[in-house]
Amino acid sequence: MTEPVLNAKVGDTVWVARAGGVEQFRPCRVCNGDKAVTLIRGNGEHVRIGCQFCSVGLENPTGRESYHAYAPKPTPYRVTGVERVEKSDGVTVQYRSGSDSGWTTVDAKDCFASPDDAMGRCAALVAEHEAEQELAFQRKDQNHKSYAWYVGYHLREAERARKQADYHERKAAAMKALEPSR
Ligand SMILES: [Zn+2]
Repeated sequence: MTEPVLNAKVGDTVWVARAGGVEQFRPCRVCNGDKAVTLIRGNGEHVRIGCQFCSVGLENPTGRESYHAYAPKPTPYRVTGVERVEKSDGVTVQYRSGSDSGWTTVDAKDCFASPDDAMGRCAALVAEHEAEQELAFQRKDQNHKSYAWYVGYHLREAERARKQADYHERKAAAMKALEPSR
């Protein structure tokens, strides 16, 4: 792998490894664009519920998921300041780019002499971002499954409450029938 530029001076241009992300859409991984999923309960009953995975907040499901398509994006920065911190475990170099009142700080280990040199690090960042994104989707999918569990739970509870109500009504009717007539 091409080594980063650790000794740039003020006025030099370095190429910073970046992973550019563009928002795109694809069919929802859970409902596959259907906007609804079918819950099969223990008694075999099928219940159709709105897909929670592709709903944003309380809005209706969209049937699609938005994601970022990442691509290597080496970006030139003009160095306007160098920060070097020496510690017992080594030296950290950061470059500033911008005016004295507003600048961006980049780690020297992400800076390279040319766009081509930066590509290896860019590819690593793309892979990192994609992995993070996938992990976030998987966590969301877990939440979605617990949502389905809650739907099932409330349906079960409603049924139990109905059965209880039936029982108490029958019981009340039976008591009434036993009421001594005057
Ligand atoms: Zn969906």
